[in-house]
Amino acid sequence: MAADKKPKPSGFPGSGLAKGLAVTLRTMTKRSVTAQYPDVQPDLAPRTRGVIGLFEENCTVCMLCARECPDWCIYIDSHKETVPPAAPGGRERSRHVLDRFAIDFSLCMYCGICIEVCPFDALFWSPEFEYAETDIRELTHERDKLREWMWTVPEPPALDPAAEEPKEIAAARKTADKLAAQQAAADAETSGEDA
Ligand code: SF4
Ligand code: SF4
Repeated sequence: MAADKKPKPSGFPGSGLAKGLAVTLRTMTKRSVTAQYPDVQPDLAPRTRGVIGLFEENCTVCMLCARECPDWCIYIDSHKETVPPAAPGGRERSRHVLDRFAIDFSLCMYCGICIEVCPFDALFWSPEFEYAETDIRELTHERDKLREWMWTVPEPPALDPAAEEPKEIAAARKTADKLAAQQAAADAETSGEDA
């Protein structure tokens, strides 16, 4: 025969109410953890994933971000341009020029894959989050807006003083030195001709 499995009441009558009141009293005396947004702006962590900024000067239209995006919400259009040879007798080269770069934030799931895979450091997380819209179609943002968000991207943390110079900075410095030397040589040549 099956035994009667009714739960037995625990404690004295009204003990549940007393426990509830105790929790309320404990919580009332603790510091509030809620923020009074929008009167008070939240103190966001530096690596907050708010929105994606585009530094389009770095974009080579390689399409890697659009291909790897799991939601297919990056739209890129481009055209080809022919670049004259760098030196006389050299070969002409062709390069892609960006016409459109847009992200549909109604589909984006903020996974960060596009930022991780971009080989040219053209995409960055910005902590900006105030871009809600009442119409879902307005959540597709074009390159101008993505560039505006670029300026809200926080600076990267300072390098350890003992760390090696990053290879990107070393390469940029080398290029800048080379260009400065070329410019100086051209200036010297021009002033020699004038004399
Ligand atoms: S964060 Fe993820 S979902 Fe959003 S655009 Fe980038 S790859 Fe696509
Ligand atoms: S991966 Fe980077 S460089 Fe390539 S298209 Fe996307 S943003 Fe541009």
